[in-house]
Amino acid sequence: MFCLIGTPVGHSGSPAMYNYSFAQTGLDYAYLAYDVPLEKTEEAVNALKVLGCKGFNVTMPCKTRVAELVDELSDAAKLIGACNTVVVKDGKLYGNNTDGMGFVRNLKENGVDVKGKKITVMGAGGAATAIQVQCALDGAKKLSIFNRKDKFYANGEKTVKKIQQMVPDCEVSIHPLEETDALYAAIKDSDILVNATKVGMKPLDDQSLVEDVSVFHPDLVVADAVYNPKETKFVQSAKAAGCKVAVGGTGMLMWQGAAAFNLFTGKDMPTKEVYELFFK
Ligand code: NAP
Repeated sequence: MFCLIGTPVGHSGSPAMYNYSFAQTGLDYAYLAYDVPLEKTEEAVNALKVLGCKGFNVTMPCKTRVAELVDELSDAAKLIGACNTVVVKDGKLYGNNTDGMGFVRNLKENGVDVKGKKITVMGAGGAATAIQVQCALDGAKKLSIFNRKDKFYANGEKTVKKIQQMVPDCEVSIHPLEETDALYAAIKDSDILVNATKVGMKPLDDQSLVEDVSVFHPDLVVADAVYNPKETKFVQSAKAAGCKVAVGGTGMLMWQGAAAFNLFTGKDMPTKEVYELFFK
């Protein structure tokens, strides 16, 4: 048995995606979703161990708490301070974070390698941190983080410190998103621009954080973490401005699931079919 924990999980597409993939790869496994509030995380994790669960995904609000409960953390999960995938082996819990892996893999599928690249990331929340950490671990040359001087700014500052300690070869800095001139200068100097804020997601779907589209140079790779809508105003305006690669968040979502499937089973998810059935 595998499962998802967190709340709410009733809307999640994960059970359908994993159960389909288990059947397609000939694995006699089942994937369920359990609604678990934050204060019940530890009890739920202990229960899953007792029940012989082989692995589980974690969604909000349990991701940070689970990172404190596992026996071992991957480098990415350690730096992010949150787990979205846990493998149970011989009674031990191995915590991973596949969100950033999904982001990097999705770019690779679009012909882009983050190694050696200058990357600007707007956002300092959960998705942004995962993307920043994985890009640093995978060899990005420079990371410029922009966030409003608001709730998540301090989190971004923490991420900068952690990356500086663990990945000293990556030049990393954070700036207020309100400093538009600095943002546009960073974009002009970047190979890759990422939106990992909630801007562009419904009900903010009529907005993009890049209002001056002249900063979208043709060689700029543009990626959004937002997958609802599939193509945000940010991605649409980058395409219209001539950026050759401009991708929404759907691919990242599928590839983070595929990375978890591989950690759970050692096999590849049938991503072509999964994409057609669940993400197109
Ligand atoms: P989160 O942890 O709550 O972070 C939200 C981020 O958005 C923060 O940086 C926040 O900064 C910023 N923000 C919110 N409203 C803003 C505004 N009006 N202007 C500028 N910045 C704003 O959320 P999350 O989990 O990272 O999710 C962010 C987006 O990524 C969501 O659309 C989510 O669906 C998507 N996501 C996609 C995947 C995927 O696999 N594709 C995975 C995870 C998340 P301040 O509030 O500090 O300004």
